[in-house]
Amino acid sequence: MIQSVCILGSTGSIGQSTLDVIARNPEKMQVYALSAFSRIKLLAQQAAQSRAKVVVVPDETALKSFKSAWNSPQPMPEIRLGTEGLKQTAADAAVTTVMAAIVGAACLEPALAAAQAGKRILLANKESLVAAGGLFMQAVRDHGAQLMPIDSEHNAMYQCLPLEAQCSAPTAPYPTIQRLLLTASGGPFRQTDAAALHYVTPAQACNHPNWSMGRKISVDSATMLNKGLEVIEAHWLFAMPAEKIQVVVHPQSIVHSMVEYLDGSILAQLGQPDMRTPIAYGLGYPERIPSGLGLMDLMQLGRLDFSEPDFHRFPCLKLAFDALKSSQAACVALNAANEIAVEYFLNEQIRYTDIAILIAHSIEQIEKNTHDLSHLDAVLDLDEQARQIAKQYANTLRAAH
Ligand code: NDP
Ligand code: MG
Repeated sequence: MIQSVCILGSTGSIGQSTLDVIARNPEKMQVYALSAFSRIKLLAQQAAQSRAKVVVVPDETALKSFKSAWNSPQPMPEIRLGTEGLKQTAADAAVTTVMAAIVGAACLEPALAAAQAGKRILLANKESLVAAGGLFMQAVRDHGAQLMPIDSEHNAMYQCLPLEAQCSAPTAPYPTIQRLLLTASGGPFRQTDAAALHYVTPAQACNHPNWSMGRKISVDSATMLNKGLEVIEAHWLFAMPAEKIQVVVHPQSIVHSMVEYLDGSILAQLGQPDMRTPIAYGLGYPERIPSGLGLMDLMQLGRLDFSEPDFHRFPCLKLAFDALKSSQAACVALNAANEIAVEYFLNEQIRYTDIAILIAHSIEQIEKNTHDLSHLDAVLDLDEQARQIAKQYANTLRAAH
């Protein structure tokens, strides 16, 4: 059966790579739906090229922009709006596979809708697992959805799992796994002096040495909060306690992560730092399909290095470990406050070093009360509260500079 794919966030870095892989494998898959938030012209081009049947845009203004940008002789796709449109499309009967590649917690509701509709979900977005991993994994189990991690590290671990442990949403760690080894490049500031971090610019933070990604995840990689989010992501995907997830700094980004078994064997997945590999793995599973990558020259590479992360220079990583050990509310606050902090940093309203301060403050405020997060509405409410706290504090910091 040909897969019918919905790409949530098609105009982003992951979205564009997904379109590239689909175009290389037309006999196995086709695009059904695409979504964008601000790059509406690009969405119109993508929809014309991929012959999408449906597009989702945020509001009426974007709908008008889409109509005026449409200049293809083909029939215009059906246009749906907002979060409701995203949810409806993720659960659409015509869709077999959903690529969840919207950035931030905005992906949570549509990804959950895909899980509730029992789809094959290719999950690139990590923020939804951080905010509501328990609810999301339960929905995957309850509705028989098939969950494939696309984040390169988790995709690597998934590839290193025994077959019977794949395609499941486990409630306990696979019994013979001792540890997950989560590799981290260390980002652009791996060797930057702690004092100099105070003055780094958004352009420097977005200049990742190995990966080309969207701006938010690039800043997350620079603070290593991204690795913290990935620890929480691994916790939910593989039902693994924080103590059994070790972050290993590996500057070459060739070993994408490893699984260490009871007998001392460590299985690793290696590859070039290009997201088309995990995307092709998810789209092709259980087969291997072309991704557009050439051969990797290990001789040219010469060596692979591994070292410990520096929690002092990367306090965001420590905050994430602490949040995971502390409470789900702390994880919601960690993610929400970070989204606000990154936005302010990218707009040059706060400093790079303020990001960790803002997150710590928001978690502290949120943890003053206890929260029942067993329902989605409660998670969304708390997420909003944490955003407000972060914004207020960001404005105070901004005024102080
Ligand atoms: P980008 O910023 O490049 O793209 C984000 C996408 O989400 C765009 O299509 C954007 O639309 C859309 N979008 C943004 N805000 C909203 C919103 N509020 N509602 C609906 N849609 C929205 O991000 P990436 O592709 O880099 O990352 C996407 C996700 O994948 C993130 O969660 C990231 O952590 C994860 N990921 C990314 C990797 C990478 O290599 N890039 C690697 C591993 C994980 P528009 O562009 O039209 O505004
Ligand atoms: Mg990653």
